Amino acid sequence: MLAVCWEGKEKMEVRKVPRPHIKETTDVVLKITSTCICGSDLHIYENVIPGMEPGDVMGHEFMGIVDEVGSDVKNVKKGDRAVACFDIGCGKCFYCQRALFSSCSTTNPSNMLCPLYGHKTGGFFGYSHITGGYPGGQAQYARVPYGDVNLLKVPSHLPDKKVILLSDILPTAWHANELASVGKGDRVAIWGAGPVGQLAAHCAFVRGAERVIIIDDIEYRLQFAKDRMPNIETINFDKVKVPEELHKKFGTTTAPDVGIEAVGVHYAKSWVSKLEMATGLATDPSDMLNEIIYSVRKGGRIGIVGVYVGYTNHFNIGGFMEKAMSAAAGQTPCQKYWPHLLKLVEEGTLTPDMVITHEMPLIKAPEGYKLFNNKEEHCVKVVMHP
Ligand code: NAD
Ligand code: ZN
Repeated sequence: MLAVCWEGKEKMEVRKVPRPHIKETTDVVLKITSTCICGSDLHIYENVIPGMEPGDVMGHEFMGIVDEVGSDVKNVKKGDRAVACFDIGCGKCFYCQRALFSSCSTTNPSNMLCPLYGHKTGGFFGYSHITGGYPGGQAQYARVPYGDVNLLKVPSHLPDKKVILLSDILPTAWHANELASVGKGDRVAIWGAGPVGQLAAHCAFVRGAERVIIIDDIEYRLQFAKDRMPNIETINFDKVKVPEELHKKFGTTTAPDVGIEAVGVHYAKSWVSKLEMATGLATDPSDMLNEIIYSVRKGGRIGIVGVYVGYTNHFNIGGFMEKAMSAAAGQTPCQKYWPHLLKLVEEGTLTPDMVITHEMPLIKAPEGYKLFNNKEEHCVKVVMHP
């Protein structure tokens, strides 16, 4: 079969690899119909996440038609359409029992403790060998372990583009809002107008937020948000200082109530870094987290879904403590949110497909990676079809 293989920094190749089959009685093999490129794949594309090996099959956002079913699988049968989730849970361990599927203690077969994370993660598709080295779904077929836990059966009347983002970024956008307890009347500032930030804004509105502001320095992405969410406000951080602008909009004492981080390590760039890096005072992406601490009101809440690797120094724990803030972070346990989110998609309350700008055959993956990474052709989200 054909698959997108990682061959090194900024080097993806579509080539022939052996097709997967059932290994365990709880496995399912999917014939992939749609698969996306994620901001998390860009960390691998740029070789920021360690533990990749040449030839590894990429992709953790995918869906398709059930092709083979292990004898212990009960929830899906051959011919069903199903979405997979990026993190692989066993459904039985201490963490899965608490719906922390992305922290599953049994699905990561690797003995590598991440030298940067200092702990063992759950298993993830199409990612580093530190996260289990599972072949991903940017391919014609993928093996999904624990199919009953990690597949969501989807109704035939919903086309792929309506449900494919349930594999990761729709639950992640929802998770960011959950982590910061976004609810009715909240004023929410979102750092990052990539697909995750856009959907985090969409979810914030659906959850009853009163004002939502999205921050980026890519003008077409800010305009993209305005075109799709009429009440959204935007800040271009290349033109103004974000905390000052937010305090101007809200007053320093009142807002925003919530800051959502939807950027992640290798793209974090900010006025603080530009200013302070020039003077040698600041050296790492925690500057953006400090910008969030400066901007959000006292007692405010922060939800972090952007991916970080290990330590970021100069974190303003003093400001965070004195302002009585709370923060939560995490890889998203998609499975936990699936029933609720599928319902919201079915009734039309959530329209995640609004972020899809590019669809292309899988064979064009190197082109897709390049334009998503370099923010070319007004790209927001790429979906590929094998
Ligand atoms: P993306 O690269 O398309 O978007 C990131 C955006 O952040 C870009 O538009 C960039 O210009 C902007 N940005 C950079 N510095 C900024 C700053 N200082 N202030 C405001 N905006 C800034 O990526 P994406 O697909 O939207 O993903 C975003 C992050 O979410 C990535 O780190 C990805 O790994 C992570 N992610 C996490 C999970 C999870 O489970 N927690 C799941 C999916 C994606
Ligand atoms: Zn993803």
